[in-house]
Amino acid sequence: MEKVLCYIAVQDGKVKRSALEVLSRFRELAVAHDFGLEAVLLGPDADDHVATVAAYGPGKILTVKEDSLVRHSNQLYVEALVRAIDVSGAGTLAMASTEGAKDVLGALGVRLSASVLPDVSSVDVVDGAWEVTRPVMAAKRLARTRALTTPSIISVRSGAYSASESAADVEVVDVPLEVSEDSLRMTIREVLGAVTGEIDLSEAGVVVAAGRGVKDEEGTRLVRELASVLGGAVGATRAVVESNLFPATAQIGQTGKVVSPELYFAVGISGAIQHVAGMSNSRVIVAINKDADAPIFRYSSYGVVGDLYKILPLLIDQLRTVQTR
Ligand SMILES: Cc1cc2nc3c(=O)[nH]c(=O)nc-3n(C[C@H](O)[C@H](O)[C@H](O)COP(=O)(O)OP(=O)(O)OC[C@H]3O[C@@H](n4cnc5c(N)ncnc54)[C@H](O)[C@@H]3O)c2cc1C
Repeated sequence: MEKVLCYIAVQDGKVKRSALEVLSRFRELAVAHDFGLEAVLLGPDADDHVATVAAYGPGKILTVKEDSLVRHSNQLYVEALVRAIDVSGAGTLAMASTEGAKDVLGALGVRLSASVLPDVSSVDVVDGAWEVTRPVMAAKRLARTRALTTPSIISVRSGAYSASESAADVEVVDVPLEVSEDSLRMTIREVLGAVTGEIDLSEAGVVVAAGRGVKDEEGTRLVRELASVLGGAVGATRAVVESNLFPATAQIGQTGKVVSPELYFAVGISGAIQHVAGMSNSRVIVAINKDADAPIFRYSSYGVVGDLYKILPLLIDQLRTVQTR
């Protein structure tokens, strides 16, 4: 196998957990199949994150510190990653399947004439080539795909692997990037973020998601309280987003976000396939639903049949009691 370069995404001044998961997976594969592993950080503050990334064992870290990379921009990120691959000589670019990755993957694939394996839930080396699995058709099927050409670009779903540290000696290489302002075809003027202090849904270790069983302010308060007690993020089905009880940024599913936390609470959610497409990769799924035949129970590790308005207060109380012990 040729060398792999892992793009490490940074958001709000922190390295994304999902990027470290991908780096950890490729380190395992690099050890097993004897290929080189490098990482690349983009942005003027790249040096601040070198120590964090180094703890996950890449042999080399490339930093592209051009000022204009301070914010995600399709054109600049594509230029920076193409330059990094060029300097690294890697045959594969790997990254977490973040919103930013989805934005650049197509353009990168065309620029590099690469085989593109997007949004995979597993990646392996089989007979000297990449083989990945990827949920398709709203996660009703898994497609197993093999890369036939080099270079390859692989994006991996968050939560598909665990991040595990394995520090090694690392060389840091600064990669210059010349960007002329005149060449920019577009610019981001403002990023309207979610409410400050809210946990990023796609990176959260715990997600408490509400469905149409949550009917009013009292229900949303209970869901938010459970999330807060567990230090988790709040998610929602399209049904409750459309009823304006939760913001569109909370929607999970085929037309929303894909999440794969350690623990997923499905509260008053029926388990429609379009919703399941966004959460079925969660490690432990707990469903609370008053209908014992609700499809969500087919996907859940634990199920509670009952009224969420009675169960959530008891659960929150119990968790608080355990936490104060
Ligand atoms: C093209 C397309 C894309 C879509 N994309 C998405 C998407 O990205 N995400 C998404 O979520 N949906 C999506 N949908 C919609 C999807 O098909 C479902 O309609 C939606 O997921 C249902 O949401 P729900 O489970 O909240 O509601 P429902 O299906 O109405 O289920 C509500 C559940 O709550 C339970 N319940 C009611 N009261 C209580 C109570 N007091 N205590 C406990 N349980 C209770 C009920 O038994 C029921 O099972 C999409 C649909 C289409 C056609």
